[in-house]
Amino acid sequence: METIDSDIVIVGGGGAGLRAAIAAQEADPKLKVALVSKVVPMRSHTVAAEGGSAGVIRDDDSLDNHFDDTVSGGDWLCDQDVVRFFVERCTEEMVRLEHWGCPWSRKDDGSINVRFFGGMKVQRTWFAADKTGFHMLHTLFQTSLKYPGIQRFDEFFVAELLVEDGRVQGVLAIEIATGKFFLLRAKAVILATGGAGRVYSQNTNAGIVTGDGMGLAYRHGVALRDMEFVQYHPTALPGSGILITEGCRGEGAILTNKDGHRYLQDYGLGPLDPWPRPKAMELGPRDRLSQAFWHEERKGNTLTTRHGSAVNLDLRHLGAKKIHERLPLITEVAKTFAGIDPVHDPIPVRPAVHYTMGGIATNGRTETSLPGLYAAGECSSVGIHGANRLGSNSLSEIVVFGRVAGEAAAQYVRSAGATSAASLERQAQAAVTRLEALHQHERGERVAVLREALGECMEKNVGIYREESGLAEACSTLAELRARWRAGVKLDDRSRAFNTEWLSAIELGSMLEVAEAMAHSARERKESRGAHQRLDGYTERDDERFLVHTLAERRGDEAPAISHRPVVITTSAPRARSYGGAGTKAILT
Ligand SMILES: Cc1cc2nc3c(=O)[nH]c(=O)nc-3n(C[C@H](O)[C@H](O)[C@H](O)COP(=O)(O)OP(=O)(O)OC[C@H]3O[C@@H](n4cnc5c(N)ncnc54)[C@H](O)[C@@H]3O)c2cc1C
Repeated sequence: METIDSDIVIVGGGGAGLRAAIAAQEADPKLKVALVSKVVPMRSHTVAAEGGSAGVIRDDDSLDNHFDDTVSGGDWLCDQDVVRFFVERCTEEMVRLEHWGCPWSRKDDGSINVRFFGGMKVQRTWFAADKTGFHMLHTLFQTSLKYPGIQRFDEFFVAELLVEDGRVQGVLAIEIATGKFFLLRAKAVILATGGAGRVYSQNTNAGIVTGDGMGLAYRHGVALRDMEFVQYHPTALPGSGILITEGCRGEGAILTNKDGHRYLQDYGLGPLDPWPRPKAMELGPRDRLSQAFWHEERKGNTLTTRHGSAVNLDLRHLGAKKIHERLPLITEVAKTFAGIDPVHDPIPVRPAVHYTMGGIATNGRTETSLPGLYAAGECSSVGIHGANRLGSNSLSEIVVFGRVAGEAAAQYVRSAGATSAASLERQAQAAVTRLEALHQHERGERVAVLREALGECMEKNVGIYREESGLAEACSTLAELRARWRAGVKLDDRSRAFNTEWLSAIELGSMLEVAEAMAHSARERKESRGAHQRLDGYTERDDERFLVHTLAERRGDEAPAISHRPVVITTSAPRARSYGGAGTKAILT
């Protein structure tokens, strides 16, 4: 096993990880930063983000507006001190990206263009056509190249955190090309490993989005927070789950059911006119739109496609010029994967799991409860998304809090003691023995069988609407799946080079634990709020009992311990969450 010493290890080469690496170098160019990613950074899932990134820029917008849209969008489960910090820094980060070369879309006069997104009073989503994530990631990646202190470990899979003397002191990684183990020692570790959407069978996420970082932190005693809040995006292609960006609706696309009726008006999001109206109809928040689909499906108002029910996303009235200029990727995706040219036909869409609102519990400085361990980006729960993330807040989050994590870790390592060489070596060796045993296991079930059962269980029982019987079933099924995984899975591939079957088996361990945290957290939240909606008598928001964060803590092979902690409310007392016509009134008061 090769040992490499750095000051900071960053696990994740997506937007949050790269921004953290740059920030650490800016804070202290002498620091050695190891940037580890299981894919080459430009293949990180940030690359797939389409619609845009939020930041107040228009004269008719304000930080208070952004704060209010975020807090009400999150159904008052956001930590308001952290949201305030966030909204104050988004635009600065967008401008910084511009200076580093991000090609933001512009108006004819050359100024920055921003588009509407769901749940926003005013346009504030910066975009680069509909390839925003690609351009942001590319900008961050090429900027990172100018810092010699960043050493990259591309296609290295982090399989274990190493904790000694009550603080994290490194990670154990597998070089994917060779299967060799590397002990990466460091005084601080930043987890920037992205979300966990793949625990559901229908999702918009890439195959790599498997909750690894959440699993790593959780296994070392760090709580996962608010895991019951899983976002369904209302417009994905049936079957593949490929995302059709909210940017379409931001540009004016409409949703209709099988009868051509704009059904959102029947779910408190209307009236239709005047249109387009912020925070109404297709510009409502994602949780409400996905819930409306669920009802339409049950009423028999959806279309039937080869891959299940769908509604129509209609862009035709925008005209070919606008569609091609603002939504070129969507045009290509719709043609390639649905055989539809959106200039001439509506695109069939349905909800699919998209985003993990919860994650590794951190404070507003991205510190976890384990000294030296930080988390940023979608793997973390820093407190800004509450019960429902506002579209375009996540790309802003990865740069705002990626930077915070890099700076905080750089500061921490100045005073942290040296790493404990001998005991880390012993720990790493013990982890190697466990991972080798998994690699060599000759009996047991297939990884794919367990993964499929996991996805179906989550989809069926922990979906858009939940109830006690389904959640109880999910908890017991997941416990059983975990036990089956622990008993050992059978791998056909015994090679060391690019053994993706072995890596999938490791990922599955984290996925099962993350899913368990989701199901148990959901079961204990006996109310309906944002993306967590119950049908079994807990159909209303209950601020008296549940204006609290959920913490899931691991208890070995047992079910997680669930507890609750207060939410930080500073200036916005909880009130009715209103959209559509009622929402407009709410804005005016
Ligand atoms: C299709 C799609 C479109 C989206 N569009 C938007 C949008 O328009 N606006 C918006 O605000 N948000 C959007 N989002 C959400 C947003 O893109 C993500 O939340 C965000 O990009 C996550 O960035 P990240 O840096 O946290 O993680 P990622 O970009 O997912 O990066 C995770 C990194 O961790 C690494 N990693 C993971 N596990 C390991 C391991 N075990 N070992 C080593 N490395 C590991 C990966 O290799 C990767 O480099 C979209 C999401 C999807 C799925």
